[in-house]
Amino acid sequence: MTTPFDDDKLREECGVFGVIGVKDAANFVALGLHALQHRGQEAGGIVAYAPEEGFTSARHFGYVRDTFTSASLMETLPGPLAIGHVRYSTAGSKGNTQIRDVQPLFAELAMGGCAVAHNGNLTNALSLREELIQHGSIFQSSSDTECIIHLMARSIQKTIPERLKDALRRVEGAFSIVAMTRSKLIGVRDPLGVRPLMLGKVGEGWVLASETCALDIIGAAFVREIEPGEMVIATAQGIDSFFPFQPQKPRFCIFEKVYFSRPDSVIGGQSVYETRRRIGMELAIEAPVEADLVCPVPDSGTPAAIGYSQQSGIPYAMGIIRNQYVGRTFIEPSEQIRNMGVRLKLNVNRAVVAGKRVVLVDDSVVRGTTSRKIREMVMDAGAAEVHFRIASPPTQWPCFYGVDTPDRDKLLAATMSEEEMRQYVGVDSLKFVSLDGLYRACEQPTGRDARQPQFCDACFSGDYPVKPSDRMDQGFRLKVSA
Ligand code: SF4
Repeated sequence: MTTPFDDDKLREECGVFGVIGVKDAANFVALGLHALQHRGQEAGGIVAYAPEEGFTSARHFGYVRDTFTSASLMETLPGPLAIGHVRYSTAGSKGNTQIRDVQPLFAELAMGGCAVAHNGNLTNALSLREELIQHGSIFQSSSDTECIIHLMARSIQKTIPERLKDALRRVEGAFSIVAMTRSKLIGVRDPLGVRPLMLGKVGEGWVLASETCALDIIGAAFVREIEPGEMVIATAQGIDSFFPFQPQKPRFCIFEKVYFSRPDSVIGGQSVYETRRRIGMELAIEAPVEADLVCPVPDSGTPAAIGYSQQSGIPYAMGIIRNQYVGRTFIEPSEQIRNMGVRLKLNVNRAVVAGKRVVLVDDSVVRGTTSRKIREMVMDAGAAEVHFRIASPPTQWPCFYGVDTPDRDKLLAATMSEEEMRQYVGVDSLKFVSLDGLYRACEQPTGRDARQPQFCDACFSGDYPVKPSDRMDQGFRLKVSA
């Protein structure tokens, strides 16, 4: 269960991790998933393979640290090859995860078993599902990922990797996949490379992970990113690489850099922390203000607040403190507790902000409810002025590529102008970094190339690199070009 604070953030839905060629691979996977916990907190799963025991698996609700840490459980997952997944549901049983939806999904195919873990979202999963059911497939879960398994089962190819290629040529949308057979660890990224996937080396073994921070936790060396449109197959003999799809210009998710990825991860050769710090610097250049203090909305606003402070010369201070230990115990869905809302997680450092003109730096504004409450708390603590600076452009469009977003009419920026949002939040000023400023912070010195954008930025621009066909069938309308 989540707090209202979490409800006002976009949520990455999944993290994937896999390792081959190490003793007790599942233990490495558990550690990797723990490092990727920020990408999904509802549930996690591990599938392992050992020659004697065959395939084994475990799926649990809750945090990895509470589930995959018991020796008795981990002993049931032996072998040198394992993959895992943490999830927050975007497809399937949204907000109401069933254990059958928890990945990795496993299937016995004609040539042996295989398990698949998927980060992303397939935009044609509903139509594929209908087609597959018409042709006799029996679905076990409500996950879009299961389409991949059924497409593999129907493929006439002779090997599992070839069947996986066949299946992935039929799907649309975003996928970074970690899969396994009895002897192979397989990683694939969609042709646009929307979601990340990293390759690492640990001892004689190979690792695949959503982010580099998950390589660090097991002491693996970063080798390289899996390329957009690439499939790699790791075995005891080494790595093979294939490009099974029509090449396309990559469109990596720019929001990974703003918010989803951990600041200690490296993406595209750039430190996520450093990118966020530079976004803060861009913000200070684009939206300066006379103030006494720059304070982050913790934790995700911290690097951008540091950048804003460094660029503007306004002192940085911890004006809001986050309680790291908000657990499930307190988060009962009772009205009284829910009304406490943001106060469960954040508290204002009264001694710091009283009497001061404060610049608050946050990563994004989604519904705006949290921003209103934070402003109220900071004013209650005696601040003289509150200025909001947001380290992303206004979020105006939903994401269909593996991020939980409210419907468009719930996005504050889709329904209000910047001045209306300022009035709604009740702050002295409210400014967002521009899309060009965000691109500059992401090492694109000339900003966004409107003819060939370098990233996916659909939630800001409405420019969807893959048509969200299922959602359009349900009535979603794309932005009308100028
Ligand atoms: S729409 Fe936004 S959150 Fe979704 S993939 Fe694109 S940039 Fe990322």
